[in-house]
Amino acid sequence: MITILDPAFSQLNEFLHEKSFSKIFILVDENTHEYCLPVLLGNMETDLGFEILEVEAGEEMKNIRTANQLWEILTEMKADRKALVINLGGGVITDMGGFVAATYKRGIQFINIPTTLLSMCDASIGGKTGIDLMHYKNMVGTFTFPERIFVYPKFLETLPFKELRSGFAEMLKHGLIADKIHWENLIRMNKPDLEGIIPHIETSMGIKQEVVNKDFQEKNIRKTLNFGHTIGHAVESLCLHQGNPVLHGEAVAMGMIAETHLAYLEDLISGEDSTAIIESLKKYYPYVDISDFKDEDIFDLLWNDKKNTDRRINFSLISGIGSCVFDHQCSEENIAGSLDFYRRLN
Ligand code: NAD
Ligand code: ZN
Repeated sequence: MITILDPAFSQLNEFLHEKSFSKIFILVDENTHEYCLPVLLGNMETDLGFEILEVEAGEEMKNIRTANQLWEILTEMKADRKALVINLGGGVITDMGGFVAATYKRGIQFINIPTTLLSMCDASIGGKTGIDLMHYKNMVGTFTFPERIFVYPKFLETLPFKELRSGFAEMLKHGLIADKIHWENLIRMNKPDLEGIIPHIETSMGIKQEVVNKDFQEKNIRKTLNFGHTIGHAVESLCLHQGNPVLHGEAVAMGMIAETHLAYLEDLISGEDSTAIIESLKKYYPYVDISDFKDEDIFDLLWNDKKNTDRRINFSLISGIGSCVFDHQCSEENIAGSLDFYRRLN
């Protein structure tokens, strides 16, 4: 259940009073420690003891070493099965904190308080937890719902513009796969700014939640949320491996451009729609240079994608603005064509 918090955080306080937790562990990174934790602690009313667990900020920390440190700290601090983990942060914190909580002592309860646009509209919703393995994203994880999700949009006031724009990519994706009006409302903005975005956050959260409710285990319609992510994830992984990381939303925007063209090559959408979508995405996002990546390296990652079955590369592709198909198998020729198309945009 998602709750938009009032300025006194009263819904969070009610939740903490109703449940009988033994202790609270608040997971933050260095930035959410500085910008968000004081707001949370200033409003949180509880008689329970709490500990702050801080990790360095960044995707590079979302790995088994950090998870192991957190399991060890929970053990040393004698966290029992009735402890609560509060994940206060972006997608790295909600993914990793969720994973650590879901696996510690076979699972303790956790709540998400997302602090980036990306985690509000996407990462904190839907119960996917996880960490990266080698240079593969989200390779190890669980499907575990947080007890609750509490959203406080004012946290976004301290978020750097690049991060805001990164989260905006997931909102655009929600419009493209499920809601044409949402897409049109978003692309009216010349530049993603907070004032323009805030009124649309609930719509985006609603789209994600509804899709997840219909298909928690990602057997069918939830796969549509992967639009832009098949190629996007491969490129995100290669950039990280190369030592030039791009933000998740930047990679997803790149992936949506390539996959929109792929949808056109596969005769799923018209040339007119694909051009209009690609122009809008190009307006917002910097070009991700993939000229150094060989097709075979990208294909290696595509083959390794978790969404694949029976040795076939499955794509979720839009079939219009506001609709999406899944498990669509594309020819390797068209996939290579969409990568070439993207390279030529530079
Ligand atoms: P992030 O958690 O790294 O946060 C981005 C940066 O913003 C970090 O430096 C962080 O410290 C900082 N920050 C966070 N909140 C802030 C605030 N209010 N003010 C100032 N700075 C703040 O990254 P993200 O973009 O939120 O999430 C990306 C991660 O989410 C990726 O690992 C991705 O795989 C994952 N993800 C998961 C799902 C899912 O369904 N589980 C969906 C999408 C993305
Ligand atoms: Zn994403």
